[in-house]
Amino acid sequence: PFDVLVVGGGPAGASAAIYAARKGIRTGILTDRFGGQILDTNIIENFISVKETDGLRLAGNLNEHVDGYNVEVMNQQRATKIEKKNDYIEVELENGAVLKSRAAILATGARWRNLGVPGEAEFKTKGVAYCPHCDAPLFEGKDVAVIGGGNSGIEAAIDLAGVVKHVTVLEFSSELKADSVLLDALDNLPNVTVIKNAQTTEITGDEKVNGINYKDRESGKDHHIELDGVFVQIGLVPNTEWLGETIERTKTGEIIVDKKGATSVPGIYAAGDCTDSAYKQIVISMGSGATAALGAFDYLIRNSVS
Ligand code: FAD
Repeated sequence: PFDVLVVGGGPAGASAAIYAARKGIRTGILTDRFGGQILDTNIIENFISVKETDGLRLAGNLNEHVDGYNVEVMNQQRATKIEKKNDYIEVELENGAVLKSRAAILATGARWRNLGVPGEAEFKTKGVAYCPHCDAPLFEGKDVAVIGGGNSGIEAAIDLAGVVKHVTVLEFSSELKADSVLLDALDNLPNVTVIKNAQTTEITGDEKVNGINYKDRESGKDHHIELDGVFVQIGLVPNTEWLGETIERTKTGEIIVDKKGATSVPGIYAAGDCTDSAYKQIVISMGSGATAALGAFDYLIRNSVS
């Protein structure tokens, strides 16, 4: 068995594995895609001390750093179940194998929530985008929509308004749910229109996006807007569905952790975007990966089994 088994191989998992291995304990990392979300990221300019890098390069650096330690890397493997049995934590894989460990660190990250309407999947990277920090410059001087009027949607609209020609915000409910300081900032922008009660029904296009269809939920009328890009900002979904009922989570599925990264189950720790951390960024997830590994080590030395 392992002393520490890390599930998830993004920045949080890689950091946790390195910190655990440096304690000289048996460490494994199990992931379905080593690198995580950064594999989908282009330029990264806020990874502190590195002025500019890109996702592939950073994933390569993480790999190299983990490889420098005595860590058993199990890539392209998915965990489907976790259970605590007596002194061990058992993690079941998709292929039926079961791994045992004295402590586990969950670092399974998150994914953007999809709208699930026709055209969304078809036009991904052809006008349908999820990350304004990454893709806003592609729409310079063009018309775009932001779907979602929560904090991330309104932040995206404010961000985009400085680059694109015009932003239309489509909010499903009758109110924007973002913080009032953001709404005040939005009000001062001349090139943003907000449409409430708007249910997006389709993203239209030929080779790439050329518009959006929505239904006015009050009048029931269908509308079409011509535009070049759609930023979907309806939330990040933590990859925690596989945990079942075992571990305490928020209502949006984020794993609740304390300041040492401990979850509600003794011996199971968590880090990064799958947790209830306030912000989801690379440096933050690496910091919490280190915290969880140190927390797990602390647990191990206090709960040694023969
Ligand atoms: P993730 O990176 O999501 O890694 C989780 C890993 O766990 C993945 O490898 C996943 O495959 C694996 N996994 C999931 N479920 C299972 C399972 N059941 N079994 C086994 N493995 C599993 N942050 C910045 O700081 N700067 C940026 O410029 C930036 N740009 C971004 C651009 C884009 C397009 C995206 C999507 C994100 C960006 N982020 C950026 C956010 C940053 O990538 C994340 O905060 C960070 O990757 C979180 O790390 P993590 O290790 O917690 O999770």
